[in-house]
Amino acid sequence: SSNRQDRDKEVNVQVLLRCRPLSDEEQRANVPRVISCNENRREVTVLQSVANKQVDRVFSFDKVFGPKAQQRSIYDQAIAPIVNEVLDGFNCTVFAYGQTGTGKTYTMEGGMRNKGGDLPAEAGVIPRAVRQIFDILEAQNADYSMKVTFLELYNEEITDLLASEDNSRSIDDRQKRPVSLMEDGKGCVVLRGLEEEVVYSANDIYTLLERGAARRRTADTFLNKHSSRSHSVFSITVHIKEANIGEEELIKCGKLNLVDLAGSENISRSGAREGRAREAGEINKSLLTLGRVINALVEHSAHIPYRDSKLTRLLRDSLGGKTKTCIIATISPSGHSLEETLSTLDYAYRAK
Ligand code: ADP
Ligand code: MG
Repeated sequence: SSNRQDRDKEVNVQVLLRCRPLSDEEQRANVPRVISCNENRREVTVLQSVANKQVDRVFSFDKVFGPKAQQRSIYDQAIAPIVNEVLDGFNCTVFAYGQTGTGKTYTMEGGMRNKGGDLPAEAGVIPRAVRQIFDILEAQNADYSMKVTFLELYNEEITDLLASEDNSRSIDDRQKRPVSLMEDGKGCVVLRGLEEEVVYSANDIYTLLERGAARRRTADTFLNKHSSRSHSVFSITVHIKEANIGEEELIKCGKLNLVDLAGSENISRSGAREGRAREAGEINKSLLTLGRVINALVEHSAHIPYRDSKLTRLLRDSLGGKTKTCIIATISPSGHSLEETLSTLDYAYRAK
């Protein structure tokens, strides 16, 4: 409805739903499919029968991508417009939210690059965004500078995924040198101890990304399920010179945050089971708070609880106000994941 559109204009939160295909293994095991996606109607149907009665549930989103959707079409339809906003001076954030194994990392990273440097078909949001930003700036012959940071948030502690090699031979070393989050008097976020890398080409960024992504994988082999419990935040800041006014330069600044969130199974468990609730709650305070912050923004609440978690404090200057937010909720089509899928759909639906 037009009402809905008006609201979208004010709030600038977009929620997309992506359902991955069944894996080969799941297909061989004849795992039942319980999700049906209608991309045109932007609806997802959860097929459920209770006591032999069909009790389907339908959820609608801003966009829906079924199991056959290609990385490129998701990018072109949903993310490219956001990246254009970054180049217009907006702060924008794309989140991947969903149960572990549903395709968050595939959606955000996918394949990074081919040998020749061109994008493979499996390239996800991050490499495509990097490419688009450079392509546009080069085409405009813009006078610009660009910096990137790549961090991980685990147990409410921030670590730098780009920290110089010799400082971080092991995960233990990294965890001894946490990054501290502070705010200057004007509400701006300051991250002390985080390396900002100045980059000059898409290839520079891919190299950094591969380094950071490899670190997350290494951490996985040391700590069970590390990546499913941690959030990673890749940020690109662009300064573009617009004009000279006398001696002064007019600079436009935009920022793009690309966030691969911790597995959403952690929050539903913390709600459901008392025993591990405390640990899961601590680990995923950020996930819960993010949901509350987005709800508060969508509902125009007077109080936005940014301060309740590190993730939302970290992204504060990119959530609310003159910003754009996109949540890509990822689900599995499998009947074995039904409970988690419903909880992801509920979380994502509430964020609209
Ligand atoms: P998560 O990061 O949410 O835990 P992953 O991105 O690691 O999940 O995905 C789990 C597995 O499923 C990986 O092997 C990945 O390549 C595959 N996968 C996920 N989404 C898709 C998709 N849309 N198409 C093909 N394979 C996918
Ligand atoms: Mg992952």
